Amino acid sequence: MNIHEYQAKEILNAYGIPIPRGRVALTADQVERAAKEMGGRCVVKAQIYAGGRGKAGGVKLIHHPEQAQEYAKELFGKTLVTPQTGPEGLKVRRILVEEAVDIAREFYLSITLDRSSSRYVLIASAEGGMEIEEVASKTPEKIHTLTIDPFTGLRSYQARWIALQLGLSGSVCEDCVNLILNLYRVCLEKDCALVEINPLVVTRAGWLMAMDAKITFDDNAIFRHREYPDMMDYSQLDPLEINAGKYDLAYIKLSGSIGCLVNGAGLAMATLDVLKEYGGEPANFLDVGGGATREKVAEAFKIILQDADVKGIFVNIFGGIMRCDVIAHGIIEAAGEVNCTLPIVVRMDGSQVEEGKRLLTESGLNVQCSDNLGDAASKIVGMLG
Ligand code: GDP
Ligand code: MN
Repeated sequence: MNIHEYQAKEILNAYGIPIPRGRVALTADQVERAAKEMGGRCVVKAQIYAGGRGKAGGVKLIHHPEQAQEYAKELFGKTLVTPQTGPEGLKVRRILVEEAVDIAREFYLSITLDRSSSRYVLIASAEGGMEIEEVASKTPEKIHTLTIDPFTGLRSYQARWIALQLGLSGSVCEDCVNLILNLYRVCLEKDCALVEINPLVVTRAGWLMAMDAKITFDDNAIFRHREYPDMMDYSQLDPLEINAGKYDLAYIKLSGSIGCLVNGAGLAMATLDVLKEYGGEPANFLDVGGGATREKVAEAFKIILQDADVKGIFVNIFGGIMRCDVIAHGIIEAAGEVNCTLPIVVRMDGSQVEEGKRLLTESGLNVQCSDNLGDAASKIVGMLG
């Protein structure tokens, strides 16, 4: 789960990490008033669930409140496309207005979950800012990483080593050590998959400050934090994803033409692999989980059909906990409700499989059944021609 920059900064600030003074605005007039409050000179920043805004025109240094209002009018409702948003971009509905800070140096600092070592990894670079991707690919030696042992936690000597790698000394170095230790506390206590400060800056006046912040919460830990659901900005999410969330279904949008309904993440991965092997391109996949009900299957089917890219549907389900006849009923019910005429291939196996297939074959839908995954994949690819 993502949150906005201003929300991430509020969290950092609560852990003693300095941030610029700022206000969130929902209208151009509010932006103007906030700019006045900051003394005229300020930075106006589009709030979207993606980075790379600076280069896409979503961050601007402003000199007069009127200029802030003008720029805000241009930004509100605009769709920003950055390397992190995908080609469809994200709409700007909130703007952060911050006091302008004179920057002396920009660093990169983040802590993220490394799936291969199953540990948090601290990443830092003295060459922070908007070119960090290029630094990572062209001069990887300028990126310092440190794997954190979950039993000892992050030790202050390790944080100090990072601060020294950043070229800091004296009191700023000690401030940085504390900042890094606090950032690790944020990670642990807020169950983050990522906390990133880019740039972390030393101001002209010699203070450390988080100029930008990104936090991603670990979805598996959301239940431990009652406040998280209210922090979500639904305008930043795919409407189909929101709908899937309501029914506790995992929906992932992809770029092809075959909608995939599966049960279980492992089966989903195998399904995508086999489809690709037979020349098919998945438009999405929807995982209904192990013990889904007829209603859940019907809802899942409808969500897949709302995706305009879907030209055919591939159902791959193992009826272990969920019976195949129940799945068949769900599909027939949903397809009937939305008058689905698209080709459907159902590969299912497990309990009540014969009854499930009979129901589907007699349903009058444009459906073919198969017990074999490869055969099913070639059928759906063939039906799409
Ligand atoms: P991103 O491009 O989405 O990562 O957005 P950032 O929040 O990182 O902003 C882009 C760049 O704008 C930063 O790397 C800074 O160099 C610059 N910037 C942001 N806020 C300020 C500020 O208060 N003063 C100055 N001088 N530059 C700023
Ligand atoms: Mn940034």
